[in-house]
Amino acid sequence: MTLQEDYDTLLQKNKKAIIYQMIQAQLGWDFETYMPSKGGQQRSMQFATLAADIHKLMTDPTIGELLNSIKNDTNYYSLTEAQKRNLFLIEKEYNKQTKIPADLVKEIAKHQVVAIETWKKAKAEKNYELFKPELKKALDLQKQRAHYLDPNKHPYDVLLDIYEPNMTSAMITDLFNELKEGLVPLIKKIRSAPNQPDTSFLSRNCPTPIQEKLAIDLSNVVHYDLDRGRIDTTEHPFTTGYYQDVRITTHYYENEFDNALFSTMHEAGHAIYEQNLDEEFMYQPLGQASSLGIHESQSRFFENIIGRSPEFWEYYLPRFKELTGDIFEDIDNEKFLHAINHVKPSKIRVTADEVTYSLHVIIRFEIERDLSEGKVTVDELPLIWNQKYKEYLGVDIEDDSEGVMQDTHWAAGLFGYFPTYALGNIYNAHQFHVIRKELPNYDELVRTGNLKPILEWLTKKVHKPASLYDPADLMQQITNEPINTKYFIEYCIKKYSQLYGF
Ligand code: ZN
Repeated sequence: MTLQEDYDTLLQKNKKAIIYQMIQAQLGWDFETYMPSKGGQQRSMQFATLAADIHKLMTDPTIGELLNSIKNDTNYYSLTEAQKRNLFLIEKEYNKQTKIPADLVKEIAKHQVVAIETWKKAKAEKNYELFKPELKKALDLQKQRAHYLDPNKHPYDVLLDIYEPNMTSAMITDLFNELKEGLVPLIKKIRSAPNQPDTSFLSRNCPTPIQEKLAIDLSNVVHYDLDRGRIDTTEHPFTTGYYQDVRITTHYYENEFDNALFSTMHEAGHAIYEQNLDEEFMYQPLGQASSLGIHESQSRFFENIIGRSPEFWEYYLPRFKELTGDIFEDIDNEKFLHAINHVKPSKIRVTADEVTYSLHVIIRFEIERDLSEGKVTVDELPLIWNQKYKEYLGVDIEDDSEGVMQDTHWAAGLFGYFPTYALGNIYNAHQFHVIRKELPNYDELVRTGNLKPILEWLTKKVHKPASLYDPADLMQQITNEPINTKYFIEYCIKKYSQLYGF
């Protein structure tokens, strides 16, 4: 076969796996939204069968043979950069699927179910001792997995690379130390500022049908295309899909309208990314998001950078009041804006505000890093967790269910995943800095609700390149600078000193 024929055969094989994964994702969406309560057993059969077939497709030895023959072809240099990148991504995935012994894959899957069940029970009983052995095992299995993937690299770097390609523990340590230095004193200033917000109106009753209308209206305002998407409800909001069918979910609380409002903006940001990937890359390895951190930069761009800005509410508050009738008619712009930007150090990451959120993530990262280096042990975790919460956030943790056991990630074996949440903030503040230079009328666009040019900028710079670059390289292309925390810290200081008056 010629080089081009080899390449086409390989891409065709990969396309099949991608389509199977799309089917898997759609079944997953149905499982979370509309599946009848007794459909679980049947669904798990469908999941298991699909997963086995996908694994078979992705570990087919022909893939290795084709990759070899392409790489050794004398005409290899004639391939385009995009084609070479596709090959790189296929090889990376193939290695990930084939380097780990089947027994270990099975053991990880089996242990994940046990660990999550035990975590639920231990969390309910506030009993860390119960969870501890499962956590130890989860960590050990992930270390083994990392060793098989690359025995020459630090295991934590191998795990990080799965979620944030090419990012290392050393790079994140530097970034997060800078963040900590900037944010800890800022939070202290905010907490002692005389101008504190009145948030009482946030708990006024706002009926679900009104909130549903708001969610649809906001989706239209930010150009989340509902002809290629939809909004449903689940316990925990999420986004799933690809190009022409990207769905989001939210959760309506009648006495916390801001919850669904901002989760819709957040998930719409994720969905907009998927809807605007380059059409040319569809069904190719290139046609996927660059990383979880870049994904999070887009969700937070719409949720925070736009969604919690004074300019946006100058435009949207009148429309919001129209849609909500007389519920919030007495609330003026200043009061509204300050309440939705209320900074309050808390114990729980998922409900944390824009400023304190990164510190929750930094705590998990430092613990993961030190665990992987053997500097701390699983036995010491509650103590270390509680010390860090006190030191960084000034918060006292009374029991482990709202401390070290609050997130499901570690039970699920997700080590190296957490940092991507805070990287999203670092990336989006840097994108914000550049977009304001390149679109000098940015503020005016937001103030008038004309978000199209902003979406077009994000699409050109962030969405369309898809997986052409690793996240750090993509950010370098967009900003002409290495990744740094300066812009996020500056953004926070400017915004919150104005709100809180210091
Ligand atoms: Zn997100």
